[in-house]
Amino acid sequence: MLSKVLIANRGEIALRILRACKELNIKTVAIHSKVDSELKHVKLADQAICIGPDSPQQSYLNIPAIISAMEVSGADAVHPGYGFLAENESFAEQVENSGFIFVGPSIKNISTMGNKVTAINAMRESGVPTVPGSNGPLNNNEDSIKNAAKRIGYPVIIKAASGGGGRGMKVVTDEESLIDSVKITKTEAKNSFGDDTVYMEKFLQNPRHVEVQVLSDGKGNAIHLGDRDCSLQRRHQKVIEEAPASNIPEESRSKILQSCVDACIDMSYKGAGTFEFLYEDGHFYFIEMNTRVQVEHPVSEMVTGVDIIKEQIKIASGENLSLKQSDISIQGHSIECRINAEDSETFLPSPGKIDSYHPPGGPGIRIDTHIYAGYTVPPNYDSLIAKLIVHDNSREAAMIRMKSALDEMVIGGIKTNLALHEKLITDETFIKKPVSIHYLEAKLKK
Ligand code: ADP
Repeated sequence: MLSKVLIANRGEIALRILRACKELNIKTVAIHSKVDSELKHVKLADQAICIGPDSPQQSYLNIPAIISAMEVSGADAVHPGYGFLAENESFAEQVENSGFIFVGPSIKNISTMGNKVTAINAMRESGVPTVPGSNGPLNNNEDSIKNAAKRIGYPVIIKAASGGGGRGMKVVTDEESLIDSVKITKTEAKNSFGDDTVYMEKFLQNPRHVEVQVLSDGKGNAIHLGDRDCSLQRRHQKVIEEAPASNIPEESRSKILQSCVDACIDMSYKGAGTFEFLYEDGHFYFIEMNTRVQVEHPVSEMVTGVDIIKEQIKIASGENLSLKQSDISIQGHSIECRINAEDSETFLPSPGKIDSYHPPGGPGIRIDTHIYAGYTVPPNYDSLIAKLIVHDNSREAAMIRMKSALDEMVIGGIKTNLALHEKLITDETFIKKPVSIHYLEAKLKK
């Protein structure tokens, strides 16, 4: 087992990783920017090192500073969490070249999945269903781009191969705007991701976002932890997630879950990962794989009882996956609300000092958060400040539990999106059945 893990992240996920390490009797090293010295996990870690100024570029994305911190602290591994360097191939490579363990998949896995074009090709080869599309990058030949769109059928979506975080995508409804849209997406992709490779997919009009959580040890053992529905999104960013995904015929569900497990074995995938799909009219279409733990992993933990972060650490230690598929059963239903420090109507970030904090409690309630009364949310990072997660016997019961938990939760001093969550959790349409990825934005426009 690893002996000392450096946590290369901040906020709730850094605290979550620290807790998993503690329970596994692993020592922890927190790294942080100047402004983050008051973070809860920084106080709780066995060691804490300030690695730079507040800007992410100079701290949480500063690879040489992180490697130096590993050397100085004597850590044997680094857990990247999500965001920042979690899917950065060069970081994983430098960590390994310096003789340390990267808690995550192999560099080859990160590289294949980090590029959506190679990821889609790998999935097709493993028999995972993908979205009808250009089957590769778009070249500069205008006629061939137009022909691809004609073959796929409008509307189409132009996507950056290296895109992430919901950026680098453009929907095109007709041939007239096609070439310009391709050019714009290429420029945006080059500026944001340093890679102007783009590809084309059919734009699905009314899909749900359904994803599959996997664990795989890279040695031929892989399992899934069921699926999640993350369709409630704003600007392609998830707002509420739940597990399992409802209203999916059992036959389609078991087929897609098995295809993800098969793909993990085919590519000797090592670690935790998520296969993301769009689900429409009874069909699944792969869009991308995330080679890291995700923000919404707790809902899968609640319905399976598996600690995904501990499993990641055990796999990184070189252990064989101890869980078999037959050990996994999905119990009840779990929902997660992402609580952000932002205005619930304008969505503008609202950093500042939290002067009061009263978390809800009771059976089936979990809060993953780093905040406390007196904590100041800095303006430099993502606005996620807490994840409120509930678990109960059914989707209906979980919705009721979430409503009651939201009613109880108080975060004072800054603006949060709690009011938005209260509105969503009592939304008649959403309560009745799962909604499409466009539902939330359409509701917000009303
Ligand atoms: P990112 O890596 O930026 O998260 P994804 O490929 O996962 O990008 O897509 C993010 C979101 O964009 C999806 O959850 C969905 O809402 C929308 N999207 C992506 N591809 C399509 C598509 N072909 N049709 C319709 N919506 C899409």
